[in-house]
This record gives sequence, C-alpha cells and structure tokens, in this order.
Amino acid sequence: MREVYLAENLGFCYGVKRAIQLAEDSVTPQSRSYTLGPIIHNPQMVARLAEEGIGKIETLDEIAQGTVIVRSHGVGPHVYEKIEAKGLNLVDATCPHVRKAQNAARQLSDDGCQVVIVGDKNHPEVRSILEWAGEGAVAVDTEEEAAGLPMYGRLGIVSQTTFSGARFKKIVSVLLDKSSDVRIIRTICTATDLRQSAAVKLAGEVELMIVVGGKNSANTTKLAQLCSEKCKTYHIETAAEVCDEWFATIKKIGITAGASTPDWIIKEVYEKCQKK
Ligand code: SF4
Repeated sequence: MREVYLAENLGFCYGVKRAIQLAEDSVTPQSRSYTLGPIIHNPQMVARLAEEGIGKIETLDEIAQGTVIVRSHGVGPHVYEKIEAKGLNLVDATCPHVRKAQNAARQLSDDGCQVVIVGDKNHPEVRSILEWAGEGAVAVDTEEEAAGLPMYGRLGIVSQTTFSGARFKKIVSVLLDKSSDVRIIRTICTATDLRQSAAVKLAGEVELMIVVGGKNSANTTKLAQLCSEKCKTYHIETAAEVCDEWFATIKKIGITAGASTPDWIIKEVYEKCQKK
C-alpha cells in the first residue's frame, strides 16, 4: 500500500492569500482590474484570475483607466504617485510584512543611516524596499558582497522578508564591522522558514518528494533544491506532470508546495499520487 504525505506547512502564505482575495474582490462590472506584474509566480493562478476578469500589465503606461492591484511584493513610492497622477483606482495588496520592511528602511534613512538591505537586489520586493529607503541604499545577499562595502558613519540593516534567517545572521556579522553605530531591523517573515523546515523534515522520512509550484517561483525552486539533498525529488507545476514510472518501487511519497501554489493544484497532485 502506497503512503502519500503532505508537508506540515505548504502552499499559500498569508500575504499571497490576502493579495488574491483583494484582487478577486476588486472586480466589478464597471471597471477592469490589472495586477502590476504577475500577482504570484504561478502561471495557472494567473490564468484563472484572467478568466475572472483580472488582467496583468507590466507598466502603468499600458492602461489609461481601471483598477491597479499592487501585488504582495510591494512597489516604490513613485508607482503610487503615478497611479494617482493617472487617476487610476488602487488596490494595495502589499503584504503587511513587506510594508514593515519598507517603512523600516524609510525610517532608518530618515534617521541618517546608510541603509543596507540583506536580500536579492533583483527581486521586486527588494527593489521596492530600496526605493523606500531612498538614494544611496544598497542590497547585498552574500557575505562577500557585505565585506566589499565601505565603512559607514551610521548603518541601518533590514532584510528581504523571505531571506533565510541563518544567512541573514552570517551577513549581519560581516556588516557589524562596517560601522560603530549599527541598527538592525530583522524583517524576515516566518512563512518561508516554516515551509522549508517542514519540507526538509518530510524529505528525510520518504523515498520520493514532489514539489509543486511555478518553475518561475524562487521559493518553490528553493524547496525542490533542499528536498533533493534528502531524497529523489521532482519539481512540477501541475498534476499532469506526475509520471507512472516514478512510483515503480516507491512506497512513501511526500508532497510540498511553494508559497505561491494554489490549494486546488496541491489537491490534484495529492489525489493523483494516491491513485498511482
Ligand atoms: S512570504 Fe511572508 S512576506 Fe512574503 S507575501 Fe508571504 S506572508 Fe508576506
């Protein structure tokens, strides 16, 4: 008899659930809604929202009217200014944890600190925090990058919300040598750590892990990488990718999913694995 287990923490986090709910609530017969960038890194969810009347734009220049949904990653102040200047409706789905990091960066900057964000500078959330911190703020995501920074008078540190707690500590220990006046605001959200530790635990107990989520989702890809260090792992987007051959000699299967993977896709994968 085959056993299929779900990780204790998996799928949508609070911020993503909230953003999707706000997006769905924004649809009215009178006005079209558009997310600024994909609302989450999951093509199936983006397609489902499109069917509900929620489109996607990459820049505000693409529309002259309607409702703009700012996604959970947040945006910089100039985007709010442009939305207002164009007379567009705003639905702000910035995750409250991201908002906290944005506000912290702005506050540190106002207090005269050089702001350093520990996070991936190419991630939209970090780009938004950089903008709130104002000119001169920098982002680093390795100890080497941190070591390469100059000495500062006052230094203020915040983190990308999804950054690993362990790596944050290591990078902060390097940054502590960059100033004698350092303020640290640890703006890490627990959703990522909880999903990662639950996935690693389950991967250590089963023979095969299936990680469900967008191939373009950084947090899902990270889950797959962590699981693959423990057992054979497949990263799939939908139940259609589940293959018979995977199960030939396997008795115990584990399933996890990234913070941007909808419940209905996890359920389909679970049910398909049970039937194999
Ligand atoms: S991972 Fe955390 S910070 Fe990011 S959207 Fe989800 S709840 Fe918010």
